[in-house]
Amino acid sequence: MSFSSDVKKELFAYDYKNGHCLIAALAAVINTNGFTGTYNGRRLIMIHNENSAVLDMTKSFIKRLFGADVSCQKGNITIDDEALVDKILDATGVVCDTDFSIDSPINLSVVSRNCCKRAYIRTAFICCGSVSDPNKHYHIEFVDNDYDHARSLKELIGSFGITMKIVERKNHFVIYCKEAELIVDLLNVMSAHRALLELENLRVLKGVRNNVNRLVNCETANLGKIVSASLRQIEAINYISKSKGLDYLPDNLKKMAEMRIMYADASLKELGEKMVPPVGKSGVNHRLKKICDIADKLKGDNNYG
Ligand SMILES: [Zn+2]
Repeated sequence: MSFSSDVKKELFAYDYKNGHCLIAALAAVINTNGFTGTYNGRRLIMIHNENSAVLDMTKSFIKRLFGADVSCQKGNITIDDEALVDKILDATGVVCDTDFSIDSPINLSVVSRNCCKRAYIRTAFICCGSVSDPNKHYHIEFVDNDYDHARSLKELIGSFGITMKIVERKNHFVIYCKEAELIVDLLNVMSAHRALLELENLRVLKGVRNNVNRLVNCETANLGKIVSASLRQIEAINYISKSKGLDYLPDNLKKMAEMRIMYADASLKELGEKMVPPVGKSGVNHRLKKICDIADKLKGDNNYG
């Protein structure tokens, strides 16, 4: 599976608790994957996506919001019950065009709450977004077929301090970003926390590798060992930090964890020397081992809890 589909898988599992967020999410589906129009004198909404998971998600939004079942066929959901169409358009603030195009910016009343902004962005990403494998390069994008909507989506993302760019590509408008830090921020806004952690770990790994490459005079095998141990420890620390917060650790372990993060490529001896007061190599080893044990225990609890 690609990194992008991993991210989407995580986002599909997002559990919405509020009607307002569901409305924002449904608005995002219609604005990115939908068409509205009049056919044989009846107002319709059509939603198209090759990915059946997107259509299943849309069906569940409509079921939860309006108690209605809609069916899908060959990659399309067609809603032709006019009473339901009107309810959906009214709730999502999407304007019905006669010519089956959606060319409206985001209705701001639907995304006035922070949680709803995030729901909108999350769902838009599911419907028309992708992110490159961070092992190759840093790139996240949304492909939109309408300029007004693309611009308002860019602004919505911008409200979280994340600056995106827009470029036109084959009659589409691509909102994109190539900065690792902003991609991490955007994953955070969308609540793709597992993917975020994976990307952060990779960045640490790359950083450590760069440092390793700089230390040409050192014994490579030995450094390799330091690096892989360090990455294991950092992964454990990140896990504790995300699941419980570092305050969960006793004071001496918390200090150790912070030092490990700060000096990812330091040996145990060097780390111990940086502590105030200094700690011997075996003391450092003991503390880091404890941290890893705590993370393992938390992971176990999560798997069986
Ligand atoms: Zn909300």
